[in-house]
Amino acid sequence: MKNIVLFGPPGAGKGTQANLLKDRFNLVHISTGDVFRKNIKEGTELGTLAQSYMSQGHLVPDDVTIKMLESEVALNPQAEGFIFDGFPRTEAQAKALETFMTQMGSQINAMVALEVADAILVERLLERGKASGRADDANEVVIKERIAEYYRKTDILKGHYQSQNKYHGVDGVGGIQDITGRLISVFELL
Ligand code: AMP
Repeated sequence: MKNIVLFGPPGAGKGTQANLLKDRFNLVHISTGDVFRKNIKEGTELGTLAQSYMSQGHLVPDDVTIKMLESEVALNPQAEGFIFDGFPRTEAQAKALETFMTQMGSQINAMVALEVADAILVERLLERGKASGRADDANEVVIKERIAEYYRKTDILKGHYQSQNKYHGVDGVGGIQDITGRLISVFELL
């Protein structure tokens, strides 16, 4: 199994790139943000809970998020591997993922991080908000809070994977295809 954490701050392009890479490498793409948004649309209990955090730009609590991620993985028993997009986002999530992967007789092979400057992130998210209809992309205060949450709780995970020699940084600025090309070069080595 090849399991990759596609990492980066909000607006780095994780979702866009995961969608372009999953078929090429035969991996199942799991985006925790997408699963939360699906639950919100369907009006589930999980959706209502998630929305109360997402609308503020805050992270959904770890216990709920970890349980959801594990269910999504379990829905794909035939998978040859996964691209995790937007997970893990906290140290507790990273630890839970490691334990979960070990239980499955597998592991995380790499964290591949899209590196993009903050000023570009805000610009991109506001632009995306015009087209996507995502409420958390339409409001600059919420966007800035999401980036702040990233630096408070998520950025630190780089060190976690660096210490295991699993961290690969990729320049996330430029044309979508150029960035995909850079990611492919890294994925092929994993
Ligand atoms: P994303 O689509 O990855 O930008 O995520 C949108 C929102 O969903 C985030 O701002 C969080 O509120 C929530 N979310 C997504 N993934 C996670 C996660 N791993 N842990 C906690 N909250 C998450």
